[in-house]
Amino acid sequence: MTTTVNADPAELAKFSELAHRWWDTESEFRPLHEVNPLRLEWIDAIAPLRDRRVLDVGCGGGILADAMARKGSSVLGIDLASKPLKVAELHALEAQTEGVAYREVSAEALAAEDPESFDIVTCMEMLEHVPEPLSIVKSCAQLVKPGGWVFFSTIHRNFKSFLFGIVGAEYALGLLPRGTHEYRKLIRPSELAAYCRAAGLDLMQTRGLTYNPITRRYRLTDDTSVNYMFATRKPLASVK
Ligand code: SAH
Repeated sequence: MTTTVNADPAELAKFSELAHRWWDTESEFRPLHEVNPLRLEWIDAIAPLRDRRVLDVGCGGGILADAMARKGSSVLGIDLASKPLKVAELHALEAQTEGVAYREVSAEALAAEDPESFDIVTCMEMLEHVPEPLSIVKSCAQLVKPGGWVFFSTIHRNFKSFLFGIVGAEYALGLLPRGTHEYRKLIRPSELAAYCRAAGLDLMQTRGLTYNPITRRYRLTDDTSVNYMFATRKPLASVK
């Protein structure tokens, strides 16, 4: 049987190229470092990250995976770009983070290998980089235990997100390297909600992440017009 991997090699190469700067809080990854405490506390408030088995899909250099392990969970980070995974492993060694491991495996392959084995699955800032986001959402749904939580974050596709998320962030403010995000790959909340429904996940909460260019800070808001997050849950018993 031939299996095609649901990944764009150009996207993976892009993240590998920058990998050595992943933990530099003033680098291209500054936005991820900035949003990390906000998303971490939001996740932890909904699904407490203590003694849980957690999977971080598209973990990159491990900014969120490492922080979730430091909350006391056992975290597996997966990605298909090898350099960011090496950086993540090195960081865990240097920072002496316990309970975090990394693996180069696709969400689809892990879902076939180890279904319903995680209490919490996170998939942040990743869906907009893959050819078939629905397949990732479905894999996350397979990987989480019944009653478990799946968290997503991505970027809306509309004129404002084009202006702020791409032109502003990549060109005007230089927060992200040019070409980080392609407009056509961005995902509307309604589209992500439809993917979740198709995967059998219930949407429980939606939050916006809003960037203030003056204070250079993000905060959690109800405004999902640019960056936003979904908290979803797999029902305890699926109703047939
Ligand atoms: N989730 C992390 C990193 C976001 S950057 C965070 O929010 O801090 C996007 C990551 O998605 C990169 O590490 C990239 O290599 C990864 N990625 C892109 N396509 C992927 C795929 N098909 N499978 C797994 N990871 C992928």
